[in-house]
Amino acid sequence: MKNEIVTKLSLLPPVHEAVNAAANDSRISQVYNINEITWAVRNALARARQIIMDGEDCEDWKSRSGLTAWVLEEALTELKELGSTLKKVVNATGVILHTNCGRAVLASQVADYVSRLASNYNNLELDVRTGKRGSRYNHVEELLKELTGAESSLVVNNNAAAVLLVMNTFARQKEVIVSRGELVEIGGSFRIPEVLKAGGAILTEVGTTNRTWLKDYKEAINSETALLLKVHTSNYRIQGFTHSVPLQELVELGKETGIPVVKDLGSGSLIDGSEYGLPEEPTVQEAVKAGASLVTFSGDKLLGGPQVGIIVGKAQLIEQLKANQLTRALRVDKLTLAALVATLQLYRQKDITKIPIWRMIAKKQEELFVEARKIKDRIDDIINLEAEVMPAFSCVGGGAFPMAELPTAVCAVKPKERSCRDLENFLRQGRIPILTRLYKEKVVIDPRTLLPGDEDIIVSRLKQWPEAHNNSQDNYRY
Ligand SMILES: *Cc1c(COP(=O)(O)O)cnc(C)c1O
Repeated sequence: MKNEIVTKLSLLPPVHEAVNAAANDSRISQVYNINEITWAVRNALARARQIIMDGEDCEDWKSRSGLTAWVLEEALTELKELGSTLKKVVNATGVILHTNCGRAVLASQVADYVSRLASNYNNLELDVRTGKRGSRYNHVEELLKELTGAESSLVVNNNAAAVLLVMNTFARQKEVIVSRGELVEIGGSFRIPEVLKAGGAILTEVGTTNRTWLKDYKEAINSETALLLKVHTSNYRIQGFTHSVPLQELVELGKETGIPVVKDLGSGSLIDGSEYGLPEEPTVQEAVKAGASLVTFSGDKLLGGPQVGIIVGKAQLIEQLKANQLTRALRVDKLTLAALVATLQLYRQKDITKIPIWRMIAKKQEELFVEARKIKDRIDDIINLEAEVMPAFSCVGGGAFPMAELPTAVCAVKPKERSCRDLENFLRQGRIPILTRLYKEKVVIDPRTLLPGDEDIIVSRLKQWPEAHNNSQDNYRY
């Protein structure tokens, strides 16, 4: 009996061998990273050891390969359970900041840095020189100063929180003047009038939907006015007979009257997108330079970082924001802060091609044609599918640059018998959901938003189509 246990234990593969085997199993390696795999394999090995020690039924564990196979199945089961409902998806839609898919993808350097910080203690609120308590905001303060030109900064949970905090700090029970053309709704849950109200401010609307003039603001100012707010109408455009007041003019009025001017930039880019064929939009630096007292923007839109709200501007006003109790409730956690610091470092190094969203924006149509053709060549022989490469347009998404069309090339797929809807469902309901777009009665795969490894996932899922093709809806899942 004892001998049998020793023999069985000696058949267990070493960790590195089992990890290698798992890394060669596409069911595992396409979905999980090496840390997750190592973790699950170790657990599975520990369980196998326990089963052997307990003398439980493991009759057919007669070879190393048999045991390794068991370990892989066990690891996969554990990984799937851990995977829960929140998981990787393949974004083949060509929408770069896809709100349903977590907006900006972080750079891999950023993700590595976050992961290292997460599994170690850190100096989040420690001044290592003195050993005394420090501020978590210090870690980004210098970077933001350098990159935006602002005197000071504060980071909160998201841009909605940033606007809320500004209102609550400076405009409780006071009036905030906003142009009627800028009372926008973003993403269904952020509406300027409602955020103002939630912050305790009283909204004073001026001008009309299409035209607002400086005198409209001037006439509305009274002793109760706390702020002049200018909102970037990120996700829509009014064209034709329009007028809005440039930030500089509003800043002049603010100076004359002693009322701070706040600019909600929304997408808040540090880069001039017009170099990449995007329409001209004010950068954060320009808004600061124009003299806005405070500028607010998101971290996970055109900055390409984590979900945060960044407030930059006059030091004295930032101090008041920091003193507000609400700041504690809206504060960012260490992992988010780590991701922001690392993203800003990439801007400082001036290597924006390391930032995935800018790499995607910058991709040229010629390159995309090559990538789309590569996908087409790999799926050409799949029966019941027809594939072709055609030009199309990608978009930035996330409410940024609503009118901008980025010329792209897509691999357009059409099922021979079933409908495009069926194919689109089939792709979305695989182990790794693949999101596509319907365009010109075809299911299109836009290589612009694909990340390393995604192409393999798409090709292997499409290869399962001929089988699913003849079956019912239920067989889409596996
Ligand atoms: C996106 C956006 C917001 C909301 O920002 P979140 O970071 O999503 O909270 C607010 N204002 C404008 C103008 C925006 O574009």
